Order: sequence, then C-alpha cells, then structure tokens
Amino acid sequence: MNLPYYLVVTDEVTYADSKHFRIRINPKYRDNEPLIVHEYEHIKQQYFFMATMLLTGVIAYFMGYTLAAIYFAIFSVTTKDLLYTFVRPLRYYFEVKAYAAQLKQLEYEHGSAVVHDNAMTFAEALTTGYNLNVTKGKAFKDIVTAYLDL
Ligand SMILES: [Zn+2]
Repeated sequence: MNLPYYLVVTDEVTYADSKHFRIRINPKYRDNEPLIVHEYEHIKQQYFFMATMLLTGVIAYFMGYTLAAIYFAIFSVTTKDLLYTFVRPLRYYFEVKAYAAQLKQLEYEHGSAVVHDNAMTFAEALTTGYNLNVTKGKAFKDIVTAYLDL
C-alpha cells in the first residue's frame, strides 16, 4: 500500500529530504527511485507516529481526558520530527530502516552484486552525516540486517 505524499523537485536540496508528507528531491536525482524509496520510508514513519498519536488522542478523549486528547492531536504531526531530532537511537533506527529500503530497491533495479558496496556507502553516511556516534561496522551490520528482514 502506498501512502499519499507529494514530491517537490527543487535544487534547494543537494540530494533529497523529507518532512511530514513532502519529499524534496534535487532535479539531478528526480528519477532515482532508490533515493525516493529512502525518503518514502521516512514518510511511512511519519504516518506511523501520527496515527499512533491520533489513536491515543481518541482513546484519551473517550476516557475523559479532553485536554490531553487535544495535545495528542496537535503533536501527532510533529512527533516523528521531534523524535528524529532529539532521540539519537531513534534517528539511527529511522535511517537504518530507510537505507535498508533503499538497498532493497537498488537490488531490485541492479541485482544483488550492488548490495555490499552500497551498504558500505550508506554505513559511511551514517557514521559521518547524522550525528549518530556509530561505527561503520555496526552501521553496516544493522543496515544489512534490516535489509535482509525486508
Ligand atoms: Zn533518511
């Protein structure tokens, strides 16, 4: 099932990023399906946390916690971003899952021979680009493990 999102092609990003339900991608990579798959994984994470918070808000409402319900509804949109920004282990988990999905798409397009080298590249990205304080070996192992679970 594909969840709705919108795609913006812009040179405001070097490669691609996502926020809430929007993926921005550089014109050079507009046809790079693996990169879009990576960002789409973040869209799925957004939907998961939004749905969880909204459901919690509904439960709170029916239990008589109206103010809490309102807060859950308001924060449902920003929960994933707040967790991504401030909770390092979750940011790592979100990225591992996104890179695993990207790796699966690369394998689908180019065959299994490309998996190892791309996993190494993604592990390098996780050790340098996300303030994660993780070793390349651990990142590689976690990306490949998540990829094998897909
Ligand atoms: Zn990502």
